[in-house]
Amino acid sequence: MYTPKQMARMTWGKVRRFMMPILTPKKFEAAMAKRGGSCTRCGACCKLLYKCPMLVETDGMYACGIQGRKPGNCIRFPIDARDIAERDMVMPDVKCGYTFPEEASPIPLSKN
Ligand code: SF4
Ligand code: SF4
Repeated sequence: MYTPKQMARMTWGKVRRFMMPILTPKKFEAAMAKRGGSCTRCGACCKLLYKCPMLVETDGMYACGIQGRKPGNCIRFPIDARDIAERDMVMPDVKCGYTFPEEASPIPLSKN
């Protein structure tokens, strides 16, 4: 179980990732230009708030079951360090394969 604060952060993150390219496209592009690394298929971003039913696990590696048709929010993840901090709530011991020059404030990991 996540705390109400953690759930609020994850919910807001989903809204933010959806709205940012629409409302602030230049900010979105600038943030994405700073992204380094690549996806290591840990699956954490597919478990924000809930485990996506389209997530497929094979021998500890995760893949999207609707690859090629997945939502923009999934394609864009992570946009900036705030997204990394959010996915770290799901999987704190395994790092996302993507990195950003600056770090966001960590979100407390205590659970109910
Ligand atoms: S959290 Fe990062 S490394 Fe893990 S599946 Fe998502 S984008 Fe890939
Ligand atoms: S649609 Fe695919 S990429 Fe998006 S959360 Fe679900 S499994 Fe992950």
